[in-house]
Amino acid sequence: EAEQEIDFFFPQEQTLAVIKPDAMEGHKEEILGEISKGGFTISHLKETVLTREMAEEFYREHREKPFFSQLVDFMCRGPCLMLVLTKENAVEEWRAMMGPTDPEKARETAPQSLRARFAKDVLENTVHGSSDQQHAAEKIHFIFGDISADSDVLNEADVVSPPL
Ligand code: UDP
Repeated sequence: EAEQEIDFFFPQEQTLAVIKPDAMEGHKEEILGEISKGGFTISHLKETVLTREMAEEFYREHREKPFFSQLVDFMCRGPCLMLVLTKENAVEEWRAMMGPTDPEKARETAPQSLRARFAKDVLENTVHGSSDQQHAAEKIHFIFGDISADSDVLNEADVVSPPL
């Protein structure tokens, strides 16, 4: 009952965050630290190497774009860390922490953002975050299956690999 009261005043929202292969090579711990400092709860996480089919499906909204095949190659290049982040206003807050898609723009307009600090270019740009609640629900289901009945607290059983 106490939990319901808290949800009434501070409705929790979920978003899907991904630490992309470029950042997994050297910035994973730092990004996880920023997520924690940002006040997000990590309810699920999974380190995984996407297959081409999965990457194509994950980014299917972009299949007509000129950068699509490069994007799929990049996303399959090495492991990604997939995270379900929970917080009030999580979608927007995680997007703000990420910064603009192009790190050059990020360095001008959001120098503290993760992309400003760590991204190489507009393709290898460190992190992904859902753009709205609909996409968040869809992509979370695609990566983690049906987690709607799970609690917001990370269970050991949800940690596929590696444990933090
Ligand atoms: N991307 C790219 N070239 C572009 C735009 C995007 O390679 O001109 C890649 C980049 O990795 C980006 C992803 O495609 O993160 C998805 O693009 P979107 O426009 O959805 O940007 P995001 O929501 O990730 O900021």
